[in-house]
Amino acid sequence: MGTPAVKVREGTPPADAPETEAPAGAKGSGGFLTSPVSAAGVFVREMFTPDQLDFADTARKFVDTEVLPRLDEIEHKKTVTVGDAEMLLVVQILKKSGELGLLGAEVPEEYGGLGLDKITGMLIAESMSGCPSFSTTVGAHAGIGTMPIVIFGNEEQKQRYLPLLASAEIVSCYALTEPGSGSDALSGKTRAVLNADGTHYAITGEKMFITNGAWADIGIVFAGIDGKYSAFIVDLRSPGVSRGAEEKKMGLHGSSTTSLTFDGTLVPRENLLGKPGDAATIALNILNLGRMKLGFGSLGTCKFAIDRTVAYGRERRQFGRPIIEFDMQKGKLGTMVARTYAVDALGYRVVGAIDAEIAKLPKGEGYQQAVAGVLRNFALEASILKIAGSETLHDVLDSAVKMHGGYGFVEEYHVERLARDNVIDMIYEGTNDINRMVIVDSLVRAIYGGVIGSREYMEQVDSALRTGRLEIPAVDGPLGQEVARVAAAKRAVAFAVNEMILNCGTDIKNEQQVMQAIADALIALYGMESTLARALAGRARPIPAAIARLIVHEGSQAIARLTAEVLSHVVTGGRLPAKLARLDALNRQHGAVVDTMALRTRIADSVIEAGKYNL
Ligand SMILES: Cc1cc2nc3c(=O)[nH]c(=O)nc-3n(C[C@H](O)[C@H](O)[C@H](O)COP(=O)(O)OP(=O)(O)OC[C@H]3O[C@@H](n4cnc5c(N)ncnc54)[C@H](O)[C@@H]3O)c2cc1C
Repeated sequence: MGTPAVKVREGTPPADAPETEAPAGAKGSGGFLTSPVSAAGVFVREMFTPDQLDFADTARKFVDTEVLPRLDEIEHKKTVTVGDAEMLLVVQILKKSGELGLLGAEVPEEYGGLGLDKITGMLIAESMSGCPSFSTTVGAHAGIGTMPIVIFGNEEQKQRYLPLLASAEIVSCYALTEPGSGSDALSGKTRAVLNADGTHYAITGEKMFITNGAWADIGIVFAGIDGKYSAFIVDLRSPGVSRGAEEKKMGLHGSSTTSLTFDGTLVPRENLLGKPGDAATIALNILNLGRMKLGFGSLGTCKFAIDRTVAYGRERRQFGRPIIEFDMQKGKLGTMVARTYAVDALGYRVVGAIDAEIAKLPKGEGYQQAVAGVLRNFALEASILKIAGSETLHDVLDSAVKMHGGYGFVEEYHVERLARDNVIDMIYEGTNDINRMVIVDSLVRAIYGGVIGSREYMEQVDSALRTGRLEIPAVDGPLGQEVARVAAAKRAVAFAVNEMILNCGTDIKNEQQVMQAIADALIALYGMESTLARALAGRARPIPAAIARLIVHEGSQAIARLTAEVLSHVVTGGRLPAKLARLDALNRQHGAVVDTMALRTRIADSVIEAGKYNL
């Protein structure tokens, strides 16, 4: 395709790019891969409004005063008496948070909620962290247990259920998984049969691992109607519903996880959500929201763990010094802080872009479905956020436990509990393996569908690389080297994606290790670009700039390795050495030496001085 050499001036779109208000990548579907590196139009937490900060403050204070002082009781499933009813403490706390409005953030005002934007909803999820048993109880109720009705419910269903759910007068759950259907979530065997007079469905089947299973009043339950997998709002107090024993879990000891069995349970016909066969649309859209909330919960827990570790490390003395002053501990802390900052940057970038798209939608009939459409467009970015959040938290907690020494291994110091609780983050809401496949699958669909116009871009990159004319101009100004490095990394990833498509064709789905490497490269790329954008939006103040340098450097190295691995597997015959050499030349452009150790120390010092995560 005799295209000219690609010379993209970073920070501004290429001359032939269509006019857009925001960077092309702002619309989701992996558009960031081919859009210019720029901080313009990227939402960052420094842009929160006073109202949004107030909600965060209320949520944080609620956790600090109502949840954390009662952690032991929550973890041991203590019961309390309220009026004449006995209930678990965690349910009582859930209801209290409902009274404060913390559960109805995304429920429209006309149904008893606050009707807030997604940014505020996610900020509340971030702020309600520190006790994953509580936040998973909240997430199952207010997220995946309520949002299907907000988005897919009809008027009658919304009026009937949403006010009760927003205030937590009734508690909800989401029942999709079955003993034989986990990752293959839509293959469930539960059946719904319309009775002779057409008034009720009789549901029969078993659901597995249901959060809030022991105490939920209603559930969003998935079942097949004549082979069409569908979703229902089911009253779990109905005859024919039984709840299994609590699972004995590795973590989340204060939450409920049980099976639910339906034995001809009668559900009024009007409780069908959407139409027969809508399960896939409902389940997958709700998962996009759930994945983002999980990412933000992980972000809040990263900050919580860093604060505990800094406080402990300043107090604990060995060899006559606070342990946090030892260089090796600073190195770990610097990494923990930098990676947390990156998740923050990429998370609010995604949700800011989603809100910007939602703001363009006309209100009225079909509005919520249109919102679901926007969420669908960001499925790739939602999966990135879920993986980046849960895996960063995993690494942060691994370091946090070790930095506490033997005390990190005992219950009293929070990090032991959090490290156990975090494991499930990488398993539910779609395992991280499945989310990696979602990332690549979404990208390939967007490319073939012409959604992000990247096929042409990739061919240009390929052609320019082939002729040795792919030049990434140096960029002046703060973090100019990092801007150029991200630009080079984009081309390296685009080159590898192009090779994957050319060489694997429709067989991509069987090349899962290739998909994994491409997904990891995209996660690294999105993280480094978002970190850079956030640092630039804040005029490259010293600590954010140090973080951006570190994250861009580490991301570039990871991308160089991952893209080379992909090429080594997919390119056959004698073409590989030349292609690897081109890739290597691209990866080395602007790849100056970076003193990562000094950067980590600098980042750690600022947090140690502040006594907590303060970015
Ligand atoms: C504490 C807890 C709470 C939960 N809460 C809920 C809830 O509220 N509602 C609900 O519906 N479910 C819930 N779940 C279920 C959870 O979503 C599932 O456990 C999860 O989706 C994984 O399914 P699975 O356990 O059957 O694992 P499997 O699907 O059997 O997966 C096993 C392994 O195989 C891998 N694998 C599977 N398919 C593929 C593939 N195609 N390619 C490559 N690798 C693959 C997976 O990544 C994983 O590593 C909960 C689970 C737990 C433990």
